[in-house]
Amino acid sequence: MADLQLDEPEPEVADDGVWLTCIECGETFAPFEGIRYTCDSCGGLLEVRYADLPTFEDFDSAAIADGVWRYDAALPFEEGVSLPEGGTPLHDVPRLEDDLGVERLRIKHEGMNPTGSFKDRGMTVGVRVAEKVGVDRLACASTGNTSAALSAYGARADLETLVLLPAGKVAAGKIAQASLHGARILEVDGNFDRCLDIVQDLADRGEAYLLNSLNPFRLEGQKTIGLEILEQFHAEEGAYPDRIVLPVGNAGNTAALYKAFRELVESGALDESDVPKLTGVQAAGSAPMVEAIEEGWEGIERWEDVETIATAIRIGNPVNAPKALPGIRETGGTAVAVSDEEITAAQRDLAGEGVGVEPASAASVAGLRKLRHEGVIEADEQVVCLTTGHLLKDPDAAAAAGSEPEPVPDETDAVLDHLAE
Ligand SMILES: *Cc1c(COP(=O)(O)O)cnc(C)c1O
Ligand SMILES: [Zn+2]
Repeated sequence: MADLQLDEPEPEVADDGVWLTCIECGETFAPFEGIRYTCDSCGGLLEVRYADLPTFEDFDSAAIADGVWRYDAALPFEEGVSLPEGGTPLHDVPRLEDDLGVERLRIKHEGMNPTGSFKDRGMTVGVRVAEKVGVDRLACASTGNTSAALSAYGARADLETLVLLPAGKVAAGKIAQASLHGARILEVDGNFDRCLDIVQDLADRGEAYLLNSLNPFRLEGQKTIGLEILEQFHAEEGAYPDRIVLPVGNAGNTAALYKAFRELVESGALDESDVPKLTGVQAAGSAPMVEAIEEGWEGIERWEDVETIATAIRIGNPVNAPKALPGIRETGGTAVAVSDEEITAAQRDLAGEGVGVEPASAASVAGLRKLRHEGVIEADEQVVCLTTGHLLKDPDAAAAAGSEPEPVPDETDAVLDHLAE
């Protein structure tokens, strides 16, 4: 990992050992004075930096089940607006492991968070920052899960919440959550990327505090996915996983996991050779990151038209690409695109082992199958697939992928006759 660059001296703007650094030009900013999401000078992405980086001993005193705030030594605060979140299971899936032909396969099921996706891990930190800087209104653009999480955490913090969704392209469970938690829901006649353009304009005009993953504090909370995977996998297997396969939308998790690992390497807690290979999966109809990796491009080119059944990753302009592309490259990972059919098949595979996920989540397993088939992932690898959201998020996709209910008369003999058919 050549460009760690975490060893800069603590700048004067730091607040209690925490500051923001532009990943492009290196300018530093006070973390909680004024509101900014990108660099004032060059527009580059910002990253939260710390004077003290964590080691595993810092997390010892709490249990995995305690979730995100177990990792306060790696976060800007000791506590946040909490429901609580994190501490999700690392499932074994022995039949799928056999079928895919890898030495070890574990599923990190982020659908088990309070609102049913990993977005909760980012919001517990991000909404705490919103309280600290003092804002009236929270906002996000969303393919669904960000809006569900922000609505719940906004309600918890008693802050007004505005969500912008692409009309007709958000799964039913997610809209139901945003609706009941009391967000104002604006359905935009355009795709997710247009929703984000608009909400960024609103944030720039001071109308709302932006809680998309462009907000560097959200990624701090999402780092804890990577920390939990390392600790849980090591507790069971006595080693760290060789590879983590994850779905990619705005590439926030890819960036966040990379940052978690860089910080542990920098503190001396993790050997560089133990950093898992970050392997991103996109839907074939929405794959600008895969294109950039395959073409060896420095950055991504925005896709204007995107389509996939995996609506959570129906994103043509992954805003965290400048942080995530180095994460994939420096860890020796790769990126791959999968078809909607492959995604649905993987959703069934996971469901067949009792693990219920939404389509975008199943993309990770579909990507593993494809890369295993191509020989890119080898038989002796220990792999963790990240499943990002719960099955009930998208009941329509689940029902379409699953078995049909069979009508029967209301008599036992008739039911038995039917079963015998
Ligand atoms: C948000 C989301 C993603 C995309 O994650 P990024 O960090 O933006 O790449 C994937 N799956 C689900 C279910 C999501 O909600
Ligand atoms: Zn800059």
